[in-house]
Amino acid sequence: MSSHQYAVVLDLNKCIGCQTCTIACKKQWTDGDGMGAMYWNNVETQPGTGYPRGYHTMGGGFDEQRNLRPSSLPTAEDYGVPFEYDYSQRLFGGRKKPVMPDVKPEYTPNWDEDVGGFERGNPYYFYLPRLCNHCTHPACLEACPRGAIYKRQEDGIVLIDQERCRGYRHCIEACPYKKIYFNEVTGTSQKCIFCYPRLERGTVQACMAQCPGRIRFVGLLDDPDSPVHKLVRVHRVALPLFPERGTHPNVFYVPPFSPPRTGRPDAGVLDDPRFPLDYLKYLFSDAVVPVLSKLHGELLKAQEGGRSELLQLLIGRTAKDRFQIVPEKVRKATPGPVSDALPDDPAGPPLTIVSTSTKED
Ligand code: SF4
Ligand code: SF4
Repeated sequence: MSSHQYAVVLDLNKCIGCQTCTIACKKQWTDGDGMGAMYWNNVETQPGTGYPRGYHTMGGGFDEQRNLRPSSLPTAEDYGVPFEYDYSQRLFGGRKKPVMPDVKPEYTPNWDEDVGGFERGNPYYFYLPRLCNHCTHPACLEACPRGAIYKRQEDGIVLIDQERCRGYRHCIEACPYKKIYFNEVTGTSQKCIFCYPRLERGTVQACMAQCPGRIRFVGLLDDPDSPVHKLVRVHRVALPLFPERGTHPNVFYVPPFSPPRTGRPDAGVLDDPRFPLDYLKYLFSDAVVPVLSKLHGELLKAQEGGRSELLQLLIGRTAKDRFQIVPEKVRKATPGPVSDALPDDPAGPPLTIVSTSTKED
């Protein structure tokens, strides 16, 4: 457990699915050899199969006894074969054909773009950006027999030591979010590093900085001045994805909250939801219901001319409103856990120290 814990809040009501975050990350970190199918940040349409395909049905995480739950490993087909577009033919070859991929795509990130769900008279979808959750209790770390994965004491960032990793991929099986990728060229597992070299200089992560929807908030979960502390701990409107998997994620989502399905002015969002509540509960647990109710109440307050501190915070007008990067606080971190960094509801089984795998030398 770390002395401080960096965390992220993503407001799903503002995501426009532009993939700027995905590309910002890819250009910064994963455009090297063996990284073609590697998206440390991806944005998927929901309801949908996600990336890698069907990751949420594969298993992983912890069971009620805090043992690692078994999981299958995603196949190459679940990631899809990376492809390039052949622009030269179009630009210089004189062939009046559309620009096409150089291999036939069978699966890609956001494969089911904008398809989403459908009820008679109510097509619906929303975007779900995903990155490593830098979990308080990382299943990936627990599963690594080499001790190659570690959680930084000063800020809770989870990293893989590329020198120690032997590419066994137990971490990929163990992560219920499948946010570790195998690099066939280096023979090692690789994952989001939370842009720690940027954070240490006081610069926010590439995916956060570039987001035109301004949906992203970053800070220390245990820092009362940070927007993530306010949204998760004070207003309590941001929830982890699949909390029952037991890893205690530190990426939180403000659930999507659209106008009532039929537009009835008298209906509350819970009376006439556009997104089926059962689906939102599947993603974010039953805790999504009071959160939606609270957001709806704040919206009504603002519509009636009142001031909602919560909605003002969620607008996130300036970078200072959205990001609280405090390297000096992190550097001064004293050893010992910060209990306030721990989710106290409803994030699955309680945190206890579990036995650590026998490490190989
Ligand atoms: S999301 Fe997965 S890879 Fe990231 S820390 Fe949690 S278990 Fe590990
Ligand atoms: S950059 Fe922001 S708005 Fe665009 S897809 Fe990513 S999270 Fe959504």
